Amino acid sequence: MKYEPVIGLEVHVQMDTQSKIFCGCSNKFGSEPNTNVCPVCLGMPGVLPVLNEKVVDFTVKAGLALNCEIRERSVFARKNYFYPDLPKAYQISQYELPICENGYIDIELEDGTSKRIGITRIHIEEDAGKLMHSADSSGADLNRTGTPLMEIVSEPDIRSAEEAKAYVQKLRTILKYAEVSDCNMEEGSMRCDVNLSLRENSDAPFGTRAEIKNVNSFKSVERAAKYEEKRQAKILNDGGKVVQETRLFNADTGVTTSMRGKEDAHDYRYFPDPDLVPLVITKEYINDINEKLPELPDARKKRFIDEYSLPAYDAAFLTSEKTYADFFEKALKTHNNPKGVSNLIMSELMRQVNDKQCEINDAGCSAENLAEIVKLIDKGTISGNISKKLFEEVIATGEKPSVIVEKKGMAQNSDEGELESIVQKVIDANPDETERFRAGDKKLQGFFMGQIMRESKGKANPGVVSQLLNKLIK
Ligand code: ADP
Ligand code: MG
Ligand code: ZN
Repeated sequence: MKYEPVIGLEVHVQMDTQSKIFCGCSNKFGSEPNTNVCPVCLGMPGVLPVLNEKVVDFTVKAGLALNCEIRERSVFARKNYFYPDLPKAYQISQYELPICENGYIDIELEDGTSKRIGITRIHIEEDAGKLMHSADSSGADLNRTGTPLMEIVSEPDIRSAEEAKAYVQKLRTILKYAEVSDCNMEEGSMRCDVNLSLRENSDAPFGTRAEIKNVNSFKSVERAAKYEEKRQAKILNDGGKVVQETRLFNADTGVTTSMRGKEDAHDYRYFPDPDLVPLVITKEYINDINEKLPELPDARKKRFIDEYSLPAYDAAFLTSEKTYADFFEKALKTHNNPKGVSNLIMSELMRQVNDKQCEINDAGCSAENLAEIVKLIDKGTISGNISKKLFEEVIATGEKPSVIVEKKGMAQNSDEGELESIVQKVIDANPDETERFRAGDKKLQGFFMGQIMRESKGKANPGVVSQLLNKLIK
């Protein structure tokens, strides 16, 4: 029997603030263990938390970017549990009155349509520390305690593993535009819990879900959901019942395993934190942040299509990262050929980015230089063929494209006299092909163009060659 998966995601995002959420300790990643700590984030008795205003700025920014309503009065709550990485034995979070609610994002599906996924809530909370295990001992690194997090909870609107992945990707794109987090999944600054249940058809009530904790790559989100779908389907088909539990995904084996029975909210004995007054913000404050939001990916994509007449595919790709979109628009300031610039970014420049696993701005070709290469092609100074070589030279030397073209003699040859002798030479060397071409075998055009290009070392102007070829052969 076939089932429909129902998926809801809880995504934890570390905010890129300078300091922690309730103390002045540095929020830097990768320091020596237990060096960015103080009595507050160590949870010593008698200390008092003081809320970092930047955390509120960032969460409101994210909430607006994710189309949420922003609550003017929200409340911090204690979530009580014991674990060695949590010295206070409670985590400060928000429970009944979170700061953002009722948002949504639109994801693009493979068939080109889009689908709206609801966002139930975004709340602010502090991170716990990190346990580090070696062969014979375990230690706790408390640098991470007090790292500001936002938890973004989706509605159970997602219906496939692919949609789940698309949702997390879109979320990351938007949060990076809003500049609230680097959303680096490898470093754990974006972590995802996948909740999944099955039901017999889309009118049936929701089934019992399993929650898969801390999935930390886009691919793992998709794989974990797929695995879980199969696991639960087998249980149901064998006449069993899915148990509500928390599971872990192992990215090496692709398998989820049971970690613990799923706790319910009442297990945590939530209550309003008496150390923190309710958080009250004003409409003016919210409007102020709204005005400072940058143009977001959906709007920017639409503008790229309307303003630059780019195909939807190009526009979607270029706006998938703010840095790509910025690079593209910067290049257009040097040379205004949107499709030409887009092509070169998506082909040669992306090859560099993928090979080097780097940011677009570190790939070795500036926006100005990339635009200049396109300009040289458009002016007819170099051929499309040579442009690849020119691009590699720019990457290797960092020199201006026009300087390299000059130095390496890469300019295209449009001299009719010189080209005529090359064309004639190729015709003379291929009498059979020449006969067939004369007799009307059009396919041979490509053969001759190839031979002539080779003879000219790729520098012949193809337009001029094509004219000469037709003239000389007739
Ligand atoms: P908790 O905080 O205990 O994990 P929530 O009720 O806040 O529980 O839900 C967490 C996530 O689980 C949400 O993203 C929600 O959409 C999703 N969810 C709730 N019920 C189901 C279900 N039956 N199947 C799949 N996902 C679900
Ligand atoms: Mg949960
Ligand atoms: Zn501290």
